Amino acid sequence: MRIDLHTHSTASDGTDAPAALVSAAAAAGLDVVGITDHDTAGGWSAAAAEAQRVGVALVPGIEVSALSNGVTVHVLAYLPDPESPALVAAMAATRESRTSRARRMADLLAADFPLTWDDVLAQTKPGTTIGRPHLADALVSAGVVSDRSVAFASILAPYGPYYVPHAAPTAEAAVLAIVAAGGVPVFAHPGADGRGRVVTDDVIAELATVGLRGLEVFHRDHDARQRDRLLGLAGELGLVVTGSSDYHGKGKPNELGENTTAPHVLAQIEEWGTGAVIR
Ligand code: AMP
Ligand code: ZN
Ligand code: FE
Ligand code: FE
Repeated sequence: MRIDLHTHSTASDGTDAPAALVSAAAAAGLDVVGITDHDTAGGWSAAAAEAQRVGVALVPGIEVSALSNGVTVHVLAYLPDPESPALVAAMAATRESRTSRARRMADLLAADFPLTWDDVLAQTKPGTTIGRPHLADALVSAGVVSDRSVAFASILAPYGPYYVPHAAPTAEAAVLAIVAAGGVPVFAHPGADGRGRVVTDDVIAELATVGLRGLEVFHRDHDARQRDRLLGLAGELGLVVTGSSDYHGKGKPNELGENTTAPHVLAQIEEWGTGAVIR
């Protein structure tokens, strides 16, 4: 069984449409794929239809944006009810802030580069959760940079002159909203320190007391030191351990199935998760 529980589609900042993402997962030899777009369940139904067609099991999920004392935190929600009021409200507020933030970043970029807000919107589909990758795509399309990764490493880097943060619920509020939605909260790439600051062990321990169930330990943004730290912490706190690709399609090197989750962990997540209904 090959299980990859963290991928993105065009419902957020991946480049494969939800159905194409699922067929790519089948072609990559995966038995199970989780679709976890940022702050939306918008890709679920198209992904589910394709999963049935190609014979791959789909785990519906969401990567919920959050903040912990200024540190960006991503909480994966597996099998949540996508219509749960607290979760819907949190995601709607984040998406709104992501849009106004991207617009502010586009205005700052427009002063120095040939780029307009319409150029950014042209990189999205209706309903897409907008992120820096869409600004990167607009910069690529304007010929300013060669690809997304170059944009992230330079013009769009955090603390750079064009970076604007977006609002998001606290990590604790995100975990509570996911639990209230019948979902299973798993901390995504908790030790990805190459992206910016990460949270301390105490913060993860606090989240475990309000319902956090797992840590995504096996992820390309974790070096051996972070993996060891997080494996130890998961053991101490009784959290399950997942591994995933965080595939975004073209524009990010992450390949489907490059990290995977053990079948017994998926079975545990499926036992805990009670919320998901795909409409
Ligand atoms: P944002 O959440 O809008 O600040 O943008 C960060 C998101 O961009 C993260 O989810 C990253 O996974 C994603 N991303 C997509 N492509 C890349 C890339 N080539 N380099 C870095 N981050 C990327
Ligand atoms: Zn992303
Ligand atoms: Fe993430
Ligand atoms: Fe992700």
